[in-house]
Amino acid sequence: MNTEYLSVKDAGSEVALQRAADIISSGGLVAIPTETVYGLGASALIDEAVAKIFEVKGRPQDNPLIIHVHGAEALEKWCSEVPEEAYTLAEKFWPGPLTMVLKKKPCVPDRVTAGMDTVGVRCPDHPATLRIIELAGVPIAAPSANISGKPSPTTAQHVRHDIDGMVEAIVDGGDCRVGLESTIIDLSVSPPRLLRPGGVSIEQLREVLGEVSVDAAVYRKLEAGEQPKAPGMKYRHYSPRAKVTILDGTADNVAAYVNANCGPRTAVLCFDGEEALFNAPVCLSYGDPEKPETLAEKLFACLRELDREDIDEIYSRCPPKDGVGLAVYNRLSKAAGNTVIEV
Ligand code: AMP
Ligand code: MG
Repeated sequence: MNTEYLSVKDAGSEVALQRAADIISSGGLVAIPTETVYGLGASALIDEAVAKIFEVKGRPQDNPLIIHVHGAEALEKWCSEVPEEAYTLAEKFWPGPLTMVLKKKPCVPDRVTAGMDTVGVRCPDHPATLRIIELAGVPIAAPSANISGKPSPTTAQHVRHDIDGMVEAIVDGGDCRVGLESTIIDLSVSPPRLLRPGGVSIEQLREVLGEVSVDAAVYRKLEAGEQPKAPGMKYRHYSPRAKVTILDGTADNVAAYVNANCGPRTAVLCFDGEEALFNAPVCLSYGDPEKPETLAEKLFACLRELDREDIDEIYSRCPPKDGVGLAVYNRLSKAAGNTVIEV
């Protein structure tokens, strides 16, 4: 298939946006930019189109998709038993990196929710994708636009690398501002439960919701037989081909550990200004720990850059575990298969 490449960064974008919407309305697949990561979108109402998403990504069938909507008015349309807090959260954080899990109405196809009786709903903060949703007039079901297991794409180039020729179009809306997938909060249970940390922090959610519980899969690897509430959290994810290890400790201790253990095929993910501490052949900074949003923005691009034939081992500095840092820590832990060494 010849994938159309639609740039929406300049004048004339409306034609490209209409084209993307038409492809979606007629059952095709379009990679769409959002503020979190690029999504692989299809009309949530066309069963065969949703099935194609799973096929292209190699996504396990039991892993439900998030539907992307234009605003809070969609909650009532696709969800039942919507609590007042959902509207408060939408008011405060939409458009933005927050997915709410709510009881679904029968009009949401089972294919989208992998047979669950709940649906994840989000309003993305990207003008191009908001316009595509509006023009297509349907909710867009979209997981991240990577091949399953690989780091999510944060640029149109990443998307091209993974799925060029497998989808009808890729919309290039520039680099993703947040860089990690949305926060997922399950409002179908009491107290509400954080299923995946993201750009909206648990501290921000607690300000609105009061008590919020945290799914075990957020912090640690699940034991055999344990089921996360977000099916996607059980899969190995975000992984380059090299083995990733998180080193939790001061810069000096981490550098001493790396310098004693590194070889010619070792890479380091460090923080800004620390490159000179490390003797490893490849050393990349993924941002400033004082500003964890910079780590979120760059993590996946760095993991992709280190997904190279000549690198077998990646040591990473440990991000802070609060605020947006928790989301960075969660994704890095999954990439590391939860291997964390305290140094
Ligand atoms: P992705 O779009 O690739 O970020 O993946 C979506 C994530 O949302 C996966 O981890 C899913 O398991 C999770 N998810 C989607 N819908 C639901 C739902 N109804 N209940 C719980 N988790 C969900
Ligand atoms: Mg994903």
